[in-house]
Amino acid sequence: MNSKIKKRLIGILYPNRCPFCDKLINENECACEKCIGKLPEFSVKRHALGGWLCPAPFVYNGCYADAVKRFKFLKRKNYSADMAYYIAGSILELYPPELLQAIDYVTCVPMHKKDLKRRRYNQAELLARDCSELLGIDYLETLKKVKYNKKQHTLKASLRYDNVKGVFRCIDPLQVKGKNIIIIDDIITTGATLGECAKNLKKAGCANVACAVFCSAQQF
Ligand SMILES: [Zn+2]
Repeated sequence: MNSKIKKRLIGILYPNRCPFCDKLINENECACEKCIGKLPEFSVKRHALGGWLCPAPFVYNGCYADAVKRFKFLKRKNYSADMAYYIAGSILELYPPELLQAIDYVTCVPMHKKDLKRRRYNQAELLARDCSELLGIDYLETLKKVKYNKKQHTLKASLRYDNVKGVFRCIDPLQVKGKNIIIIDDIITTGATLGECAKNLKKAGCANVACAVFCSAQQF
């Protein structure tokens, strides 16, 4: 099918919605006027475990947490482009210019195939692909989740570090060797998951790794 027609059909079937309140908005808008008026002025500067820079445009509460929940659990896949717009904004705001200019690839935190079968989509991959398009940087699948572990949000912080150890593997070290890569996910909480992904890429030979997410959840 012609890609223009396909895009129009998708627009009719899945109209653009404000990710923060779910109201219908125009195709060229990223949020409704009311929600735009309440957006925080600055991004949150976080670091994944191991010290990898990880900006987030929003704190995980109120309408920002609701946006993530609908995106992940209520199949609001079409929030992705709008959410990526804000992630890309926080990357531009908080990445040092020398890193920003040197990024080779955008990648994502992978999902285990069992979870992917259940949800049908990896929300982090949708965000990473849309960030790649917005930033004009290629998307590359770099990591695979090779072990099925407990869900991080079901564990207290002290157990989360061990739970993600050894669950990811770099798909092709030759492809990432000497490259500067950014890893996208929806949320950072303890930073253990993103930290483990970054560590794997670095071990595989990446020159620099950094992260970015949509929401920063409070550590507990
Ligand atoms: Zn709204």
